Amino acid sequence: MRFPVYLDHAATTPLAPEVLEAMMPYFSDHPWNPSATYSGGHEAREAVEAARRQVAELVGASPDEIFFTSGGTEADNWALKAVPVPSTDEPPQVLVSAIEHAAVLETAEALGRRGWEVVRIPVSNEGRVEPNDVEKRITFRTAVVAVMLANNEIGTLQPINELSEICGERGVPLHVDAVQALGTTELDVRALGASTVALSAHKIYGPKGAGALYVRAGTALARWMDGGSHEHGMRAGTLNVPAIVGFGKACELVRERREADSERLRHLRDRLCRLVLERIPDVRVTAEAAERLPQFAHLCFRGVEGHAILTALDTAGIYASAGAACSAGSVATSHVLRAMGIPDEWARGAVRLTLGRTTTPDDVDYTVEVLATTVSELRGGAR
Ligand code: PLP
Repeated sequence: MRFPVYLDHAATTPLAPEVLEAMMPYFSDHPWNPSATYSGGHEAREAVEAARRQVAELVGASPDEIFFTSGGTEADNWALKAVPVPSTDEPPQVLVSAIEHAAVLETAEALGRRGWEVVRIPVSNEGRVEPNDVEKRITFRTAVVAVMLANNEIGTLQPINELSEICGERGVPLHVDAVQALGTTELDVRALGASTVALSAHKIYGPKGAGALYVRAGTALARWMDGGSHEHGMRAGTLNVPAIVGFGKACELVRERREADSERLRHLRDRLCRLVLERIPDVRVTAEAAERLPQFAHLCFRGVEGHAILTALDTAGIYASAGAACSAGSVATSHVLRAMGIPDEWARGAVRLTLGRTTTPDDVDYTVEVLATTVSELRGGAR
């Protein structure tokens, strides 16, 4: 077994060796600016456009619908802050699901500080947005609706097709944060029907600091960054060529491996949950019956502090997370679990284990063993 046992792939993934190899020349032998007119610049431009095609192919978009950004956070900001505002004297409205990532929630709050009304869409106790709940909240003031494809804490998937139909009928753009879903779920932006989709490279074995916003052809969205004419004049700034090339390569690898990866991860995740449930009393698998990403195992241990479990896991060489915002060793109760109505005595004992390409059955068995001992000790009793 290799240490650390890394079970936090939802936070970030290690760079795939093939991705690193593809990126290297653009740091060293080919450092040229893709806007330059000499042949080296042309080469860099070609590399960026090849990457754009790789990203577009993975998600079923046309390359000119893909705009490179510095990551998922920037893509979410752009999609919400640059939408046209409905022409009315009353304040515009943004509708966001209650379980969005901070990149969306905090962006909506920033719009709130500019006078927008921020409306949170509730979720069921399985973490699902009910299309009806969106439909009845849309008004003539709604500028944009944002619902993520897969949640970053518990991995649940949302009924985006139904939501895009509703938004389409009402003429309201739908923004979908697909940052977590990209690597292990089939993602066809046309079938999804969203107006904009946020993507990030470092969740799919690509580099940090690269991502993209898919903007469906014909979608009205304002220029995001003023400056040069990069990205069709929509997002100025010299392109991060190595990171973009790495993002493209990572997308190509996902196309080749997604099905096999997902199958293997689902199998390992199910084994992990089954063993935990067999070995440890008073534990629940969050949203167990819901449709969710295959690499996610979100567990709630009743009456135990999640951060104490994580510290013990770290000591045993296992890297995992609570999924919720964490500062100086204390974990705030997750807004996702609160929105699902999970009682505090369970929510406080939350641990998110997210598996990845290098996770082995031995990693899973070792983690279950450490969890069983730790939880028993923290509960102060014999197993
Ligand atoms: N959206 C979701 C659902 C995420 O999980 C993350 C990262 O954790 C982001 C957005 C932000 O992406 P990035 O780290 O590329 O800015």
